[in-house]
Amino acid sequence: MTKYKIAVIPGDGIGPEVTASACEVLQAVGRKSGHAFSFTEVMAGGIAIDTCGEPLPKDTLRTARESDAVLLGAVGGPNWDNLPGDARPEAALLGLRKGLGLFANLRLAVLFPELKEASPLRPDLVKDGVDILIVRELTGGIYFGKRGREKKREKLDDGTPKGVEAFDVECYCEAEIERILRVGFNSAMQRRKRLTVVDKANILETSRLWRQVTEKVKTEYPEVDVDFMYVDNASMQLLRRPKDFDVIVTSNMFGDILSDEAGMITGSIGMLPSASLGTPGTPGMYEPVHGSAPDIAGQGIANPLATILSAAMMLRYSLGLPREGAKIEEAVENVLAKGFRTADIVEKKGDAFLGTKEITEKVISEYEKL
Ligand code: NAD
Repeated sequence: MTKYKIAVIPGDGIGPEVTASACEVLQAVGRKSGHAFSFTEVMAGGIAIDTCGEPLPKDTLRTARESDAVLLGAVGGPNWDNLPGDARPEAALLGLRKGLGLFANLRLAVLFPELKEASPLRPDLVKDGVDILIVRELTGGIYFGKRGREKKREKLDDGTPKGVEAFDVECYCEAEIERILRVGFNSAMQRRKRLTVVDKANILETSRLWRQVTEKVKTEYPEVDVDFMYVDNASMQLLRRPKDFDVIVTSNMFGDILSDEAGMITGSIGMLPSASLGTPGTPGMYEPVHGSAPDIAGQGIANPLATILSAAMMLRYSLGLPREGAKIEEAVENVLAKGFRTADIVEKKGDAFLGTKEITEKVISEYEKL
């Protein structure tokens, strides 16, 4: 029997409701698989500001670092909207990413066939479902490069004075590219063995370095079928033939944009899980893509499936239990196939739906049958 230490950060709004569901599911995994999960609950976000005066108390980061994996709900809400940037609940997310060295963000965009009505795409484009994993570099590139403003003396070609110029620098080194590519290749090996590297190599020097490093790393993964795609083309192909993508690996900014686009194809924000990973052997952080949904907090109607699916990613990527992760995903699919829905994913207004606790029980009961 292996013992796994999970740091749980419920956060704000519906965060406590959805993380409680995921923990119940993990407990069911423990009962069935003979492993033990111990949960240590710590604070971050708005609740930590109100209780401890800061969005990410030191104790939270220490507990996270000492765990095998971190499960996060969501942070933020209207109560804290007027605070300055680094005092806001969201600062906790940046602090956790930095403190845990999380450089890879994995977002799954899975359109369960049962929910294809929710997709904004034409039914024939999504009839076989969609299952895309976007691996986004999280700590480099233009979001972290040199930036600034300069008053320019020069003029444009037509003689207009330039005025102030602003710049943001995109910068990647080989080591950063190689480690994110490895996350992409290793993920592809666990899936359908197809990897698309998305870049803008017809223009950007950083993209050309990404391609060069990919050529080197791919020799270690002969089973993985690799292709390169310009980001403008990728954004079109995602809509035209989403089922042809397996794993996409890309830079921070391109990943930011494409992961939202891919998520939108599924049409249900309450269904999208994510993982953020650092160096192998260090704790990864798992969280739903959605926010704290203050409009429905405390009503018992939040959809916990994104968080439950995030726990499935945790089983796969941090705890070495991919088969149990796959069973959780299958259990979710079976629950949907039986017609059970939460309020956000009912086909039409007025349809019957289950609350957070009830749908969690359904997932556990399906899992126990597998
Ligand atoms: P949101 O994702 O919280 O909500 C958008 C809409 O989707 C709302 O109508 C909400 O009710 C619904 N929704 C979201 N998750 C749901 C679920 N699991 N089940 C059912 N319905 C769900 O986004 P928002 O309203 O823009 O942000 C609310 C707060 O969350 C803000 O303070 C924002 O900063 C924060 N936020 C946090 C994170 C995070 O912690 N990672 C991410 C995004 C937003």
